[in-house]
Amino acid sequence: MIIGIDFDNTIADYTGVFYRVALQLGWISADIGQSKTEVKDYFIQQNREPKWTELQGIVYGKEIGQAVPYDGALKCLQSLKEQGHTLYLVSHKTRYPIIGSKVDFHLAAKNWLATNNFIGQINAPFEEDTLFFNETLDTKVNKIKELKCDVFIDDLEKVLTHSDFPTSCQALLFQPNLSNDQSNHITHWHEVNAQLC
Ligand SMILES: [Mg+2]
Repeated sequence: MIIGIDFDNTIADYTGVFYRVALQLGWISADIGQSKTEVKDYFIQQNREPKWTELQGIVYGKEIGQAVPYDGALKCLQSLKEQGHTLYLVSHKTRYPIIGSKVDFHLAAKNWLATNNFIGQINAPFEEDTLFFNETLDTKVNKIKELKCDVFIDDLEKVLTHSDFPTSCQALLFQPNLSNDQSNHITHWHEVNAQLC
């Protein structure tokens, strides 16, 4: 099978990172809540959306090293590769931030993947030429189609329900914080194998 996988919030876990970085910068008070949504809502409510955009640039660039792989992600992907599946990483990620210092997000993500053994090792699940970073959501969905993915794993419904998402592709929604038991919804990487059909 050809299996496509998203990167941010599917392989890379940013839980607490937005909060910690914003707090270190003195942009938020400590009591606003630690999730990405709570941090985002704080900036939006205060009419400081550009600051939120800038924060995302810092987290996905300079501070990406604070993200950690989701539990079981590397092991699951290594096992899928060993089983003979073809794996592609297909991410929606602009190359440079809209606001703030010019960091190459694609390079930062590749460095993170290397540091965390997703590329550059004999048993790594990906290689340089199986990584696809797309500037827009539309180009990402078209890449999923072009690569003829049989399965795609993503944390965002808007990817999996996009009008151009191929009907032949099985959509697997990865949302660790939701505990409902919908089919095609996984909360942990160890559930992936059982979902593949
Ligand atoms: Mg994502």
